[in-house]
Amino acid sequence: MLEITNLHAALEEDGKPILKGVDLTVEDGKVHAIMGPNGSGKSTLSYVLAGRDGYEVTEGTAILGGEDVLGMEPEERAAGGLFLAFQYPVEIPGVGNMTFLRTAVNAQRKARGQEEMSSTDFLKLVREKARELDIDADMLKRPVNVGFSGGEKKRNEILQMAMLEPRMCVLDETDSGLDVDAMKLVAQGVNALREAGRSFLVITHYQRLLDHIRPDVVHIMADGRIVKTGGPELALEVENNGYSDILAEVA
Ligand code: ADP
Ligand code: MG
Ligand code: MG
Repeated sequence: MLEITNLHAALEEDGKPILKGVDLTVEDGKVHAIMGPNGSGKSTLSYVLAGRDGYEVTEGTAILGGEDVLGMEPEERAAGGLFLAFQYPVEIPGVGNMTFLRTAVNAQRKARGQEEMSSTDFLKLVREKARELDIDADMLKRPVNVGFSGGEKKRNEILQMAMLEPRMCVLDETDSGLDVDAMKLVAQGVNALREAGRSFLVITHYQRLLDHIRPDVVHIMADGRIVKTGGPELALEVENNGYSDILAEVA
C-alpha cells in the first residue's frame, strides 16, 4: 500500500535535516502506529507525505499503490487515495460543513476523472456516513469547524475521512488537546473505517490512543528514523518504561 524507502527531508528555510532515512512499509488493510519522543520527526513525516510547503525531500521515495507520492501535487495525493487527518482542521466561517464536504468529494472525483456527484446522491451518502459514525445531522449545517469543540472537530475529521473513502489514512494525533473522550472518538472512527483495502498510519506520542485502536504494527521513531518495529506490545513497553530503554538498546 505505502512503501517509504530511505526518506530524507530537510527544512527548506535552513537546510536542517529532519528525516534521516525513514524506511516504512504499510501493508494493505493494516493499521500501523508510529510513536516516538517529541521532536523525532513524526509530524514532519506526515507533512512531507502531504506535500506541505517548507520541507525539501533530499533523498528517498514514497510509493502509494504503485505511484510516487512525492512527485504529486497535494490534490493528486488526495485523488490517489491518501488522506491526512490534519489537512482540514481549519475553521471556515461562512462555509457550511455540508458544502465543504461536497466540494472536497467533487474535487477528488474530478481529479480521478469521475463525474460530479448529484446533490441527491451526495445528501444520501453524507447522511448515511453521519449515521454510521453517530454524528449529529446538525453538525452538517454548521460552518466548518467554527465553534466546534475538540471532540466535534475530531468527529468532523472522521466524517471527512469516511466521505473521501481513502486507501491510506495518515492521522497525526499531536500531543496537545486530545482528551480521553476525543481520543476515543478518533479510535472509534478508525475502527469503524478499518477494512480490507484501507490502511492507517496513526502517529501518536501517547500509548493511550493505542488502547482503543489496536495496531497491527508499532514503530518507534527517533532522530528522523524508524529505529524499532514490533507488535502492539511495543506500545505497552513504551507506556511502562518510556523511550529511554528502547533508545539505549538501538544506540
Ligand atoms: P514530532 O512530531 O516527532 O514531535 P516534528 O516533526 O514536529 O517532531 O519535529 C522534528 C524536528 O524538526 C524538531 O526538532 C522540530 O523543532 C523541527 N522542525 C520541524 N518543522 C520545523 C519548522 N517548520 N521550523 C523549524 N523547525 C522545525
Ligand atoms: Mg511534537
Ligand atoms: Mg508531532
